[in-house]
Parts: sequence; structure tokens; C-alpha cells
Amino acid sequence: MIPSSVSIIYIKHPDIKRQICKKCRCILVDNVSAKMKMKTKNKSKLIEWICNICKTKKTFPADRNKDHRVWLEKPEAVVEVIS
Ligand SMILES: [Zn+2]
Repeated sequence: MIPSSVSIIYIKHPDIKRQICKKCRCILVDNVSAKMKMKTKNKSKLIEWICNICKTKKTFPADRNKDHRVWLEKPEAVVEVIS
């Protein structure tokens, strides 16, 4: 009886919705399946993702997350969901 909790954690994580390409539905990981660029527009920071597979651009504000690292790279992001 081993619960498959890992996949549930990833689905429940609110940020993963932003990190999935709308077109090809691959998970966008910087330097792996996508390229991440920081942009500044009207004094607000934006993160632009470009999917390596379908070249779709995805932009969202970066102000909520001042740490520019991807949540997938942060182990504490997963711990936060478990607790
Ligand atoms: Zn894509």
C-alpha cells in the first residue's frame, strides 16, 4: 500500500498551471523544455517562457515571486504542499 502522492502533490500545486504549455501541454522547465526570460514592462517584472517544442510564448508577472528560480527547482515548494 504505497500511495502515489507525488503526482497528486504536483497537480495540486497552484503554480504548475502556469508552468504547462497551453499548446503542447509539456511542463516548462528552464533550460530543459523551455527558455525563461526576465522582462520589465511599466516598472513591473514579467517572466516570459518560450516553449522549446512549439515555440509558444507565455508571459506572467514576476512580482509575486521575487526569487527568479523555477518552483520545480526548489525542494521547499514541494515540502510546503505536503505540510
Ligand atoms: Zn509547447
